[in-house]
Amino acid sequence: MPIDPTLPYDEANIFAKILRGEIPSKKVYEDDHALAFHDIAPQAPVHILVIPKGAYVSWDDFTAKASDAEIAGFARAVGHVAREAGLVDAGYRVLYNVGVNGGQEVPHLHAHIFGGKPLGRMIG
Ligand code: AMP
Repeated sequence: MPIDPTLPYDEANIFAKILRGEIPSKKVYEDDHALAFHDIAPQAPVHILVIPKGAYVSWDDFTAKASDAEIAGFARAVGHVAREAGLVDAGYRVLYNVGVNGGQEVPHLHAHIFGGKPLGRMIG
């Protein structure tokens, strides 16, 4: 079910639990601003999620409220993870689903990084 983007941050969401170490993830990277782990249901040969450590519901919430340091740190983490995954030469896609029309299901901001095969044009 897509989330209701008007609701406040839910500390019980699954990515908040991953950040707190309450449930496991296949971690690929972590720094002061971000955590990256493999998507549990990959939709490409490489499908990694990058999440900020702060409590932000969505890309909209993050870009409206996060500090410049949080935004810069998160953006650098997304780029770093893609480079470390070896995706740059062949290319890759970064996707943020936002709210109902975006089909966002987990109410903690996450960047999807897809790669490892030609991904087609845009949203099909
Ligand atoms: P979205 O529709 O943009 O909110 O995407 C949520 C993503 O989170 C989906 O691709 C799910 O497969 C993924 N996901 C859900 N639970 C987990 C989990 N415990 N560990 C890793 N990925 C997850």
